[in-house]
Amino acid sequence: MTDFAATRAMFDVPPGVIYLDGNSLGPLPKAAAERVARTLTEEWGEMLITAWTRAGWMEMPRRIGDRIGRLIGAEPGSVVMGDTLSIKVYQALAAALELNPTRRVILSDTGNFPSDLYIADGLVQSLGRGYTLRTVAPEAVAEALDETVAVLLLTEADYRSGRLHDMAALTAKAHAVGALTVWDLAHTAGAIPVRLAQAGADFAVGCTYKYLNSGPGGPAFIYVAPRHAETARPALSGWLGHESPFAFEPEYRPGRGIERMRVGTPPIIQLAALDAALDIWDMTTIEAVRARSIELTELFIARVEAACPGLVLASPRDPAQRGSQVSFRHPEGAAVMQALIARGVIGDFRAPDILRFGFTPLFIGPEEVEAAARILGEVLAQGGWDRPAAKAPAAAT
Ligand SMILES: *Cc1c(COP(=O)(O)O)cnc(C)c1O
Repeated sequence: MTDFAATRAMFDVPPGVIYLDGNSLGPLPKAAAERVARTLTEEWGEMLITAWTRAGWMEMPRRIGDRIGRLIGAEPGSVVMGDTLSIKVYQALAAALELNPTRRVILSDTGNFPSDLYIADGLVQSLGRGYTLRTVAPEAVAEALDETVAVLLLTEADYRSGRLHDMAALTAKAHAVGALTVWDLAHTAGAIPVRLAQAGADFAVGCTYKYLNSGPGGPAFIYVAPRHAETARPALSGWLGHESPFAFEPEYRPGRGIERMRVGTPPIIQLAALDAALDIWDMTTIEAVRARSIELTELFIARVEAACPGLVLASPRDPAQRGSQVSFRHPEGAAVMQALIARGVIGDFRAPDILRFGFTPLFIGPEEVEAAARILGEVLAQGGWDRPAAKAPAAAT
């Protein structure tokens, strides 16, 4: 049994705020602030360059990769940290395409996060030679998998609606037609049990500043199935992915296994924050978090549907089909969300009309869910959201 009051106490969430946006930027773990302070003063400050070995900085991307690997069902030694998710999408996709050299089609879905589609499109343009990106509706992916597809590039949970793709079934179907898979776990790592090895996934990538609470700009991760690890070409061949970085050889030789997916100098301060954030996962299991998340999302849907007749559920009603978020549609969604944030309930808005709420059991409980639904009902009933002040656009939402 997880003590969710104890995990809640590990976070610094401002008083008076109900934070339903941990799916976009996780809140500050108290231990992360302390760990970063120690990394700055005791490691960087005192050890200077010797900290690369004395403080274990050089091994951090692999060591922390294994910690994340345990949350996503990856084999030990198959995950490494570094760069941003957009860059890792590029790297995984380019490597996967090269492993399937006779085919030219990247298949994705129209609901995928724009950055993944932009990166795929940019890669297609760089490669030339007839490569194309084909996008179909999320429900049509299985049917669109045919013998022209080189790589299936999908995000497991839709960022707008939380709708889940069936990783095991789609990976099996992809393999049956000779395609490889790249799974983006941005909205599932730390949200639901992911079973990469069991599903037979080829590559996976994800970020850590959402459900894993590493802070803004926290490093991404990349997974390569062990069967590809010694053959995949990392595409971004940086010196720290070299077999022997400190030999400073003029020619690139890929490092062993997942090490080759490293590119340049790792972000040590952010990794320190992430390492501390991951300690909270030692107090629970992803299965316990998922069970609690389903309770919270079911409660939220029931309460919102009772209190807010003007909202239309945009997430799957079946909890098995949705990640750890709930979305509702409203024609004035942006203004409604701003009015809600002014009342201390922080969710976010996704164009054109989606009010999005993330449920993160490590720090959100049923009382907050009830209060958030009640306040949302009040905001909608009062109609305060159509005041002009509630409509001014923000730089980031
Ligand atoms: C959040 C998110 C990103 C963001 O990529 P960054 O490079 O970290 O900014 C990319 N893809 C998906 C699916 C996301 O949800």
